[in-house]
Amino acid sequence: MKSARIPGPNEPLTISESENPKPSGTQALLKVKSEGVCHSDLHLWEGGYDLGDGEFLKVTDRGVKYPVTPGHEIVGTIKAIGENVSNVSVGDDVLVFPWMGCGECPACKVGNENLCDAPKSMGLFQDGGYADYTLIPNSKYLAKLDGVDPDAATSLACSGLTAYTAVKKANQNSPEFIVIVGAGGLGLMGVQIASAITDAKIICVDLDDKKLETAKEMGAHFTVNSKDSDAVKKILSICNDKGADSVIDFVNAPPTVKTGLAVLRKRGNLVLVGLFGGSLELSLVTIPLKSITIQGAYTGNYTDMVELLSLARKGVINPVISKRYSLEDANTALEDLKARKILGRAVINP
Ligand SMILES: [Zn+2]
Ligand SMILES: [Zn+2]
Repeated sequence: MKSARIPGPNEPLTISESENPKPSGTQALLKVKSEGVCHSDLHLWEGGYDLGDGEFLKVTDRGVKYPVTPGHEIVGTIKAIGENVSNVSVGDDVLVFPWMGCGECPACKVGNENLCDAPKSMGLFQDGGYADYTLIPNSKYLAKLDGVDPDAATSLACSGLTAYTAVKKANQNSPEFIVIVGAGGLGLMGVQIASAITDAKIICVDLDDKKLETAKEMGAHFTVNSKDSDAVKKILSICNDKGADSVIDFVNAPPTVKTGLAVLRKRGNLVLVGLFGGSLELSLVTIPLKSITIQGAYTGNYTDMVELLSLARKGVINPVISKRYSLEDANTALEDLKARKILGRAVINP
């Protein structure tokens, strides 16, 4: 098998060749059909995250060991299975649930392996899908595509899953109004999912009118340009001056979170999703007085991914794939992503 590996932070990926592994027990060997190129891959490539105020969270401090094969948005065809695999068969096209956990911590025990205390996520803590073949440690992490387009399915394991979990969290307080901040790829997916699975009126906020147009086409009932000096006032007046029940912030930068807090109603729910970075001073007394909840959403669990696949099968979400790369072009793919040359999503077809 051929893998495109990151030797160390900020070093170019190199192609390494090794024997194809032979699956045993619960393992399955996939021939990778499509691998999503994701912003998280850039963080892994750059060695970490900007925390604001000049602080940097190194991925090695979170347990990443280089060299590592990136890629957590993996769609493939099953080529071989271990003797204990019965839920999938050779020849099946599957999406991999990459947020694998230890199986023993409190989160894993209730099925939330994505929130594991000792995560084993593919393409981060173990080798991922920037490869022509990949070994899956347990076939329980595989979900059959059953008709979903392989390239489009890749992001359902990551950004789509995050958007889905965020909307589920925002929907917990039976919202009349949900504000969705950010009309980029993730935000637009959030708009489509929110209009499919909630009864709320959706208000989409972005600083790009063209993107807001798209948000309307995808189901947003109202749009507000955040460059407008009256943006907060406009959102509040849409929400009958009471404020929004839930705000999902797909950007999560200081100015957007400020807006989110300003438009949140009493008992409101702020779901932070984006990894833009930065930090913020909070007016603490408003949190108890308004009894608001601030929470994060990061990926989702296996069941969420299966639910999302079935929404995709019904045509509710249609991730747009704009660029395709070969495995040998993995460096170009990441550089293009970094230079913001990719609209929508890019995939590697090894
Ligand atoms: Zn991803
Ligand atoms: Zn665990």
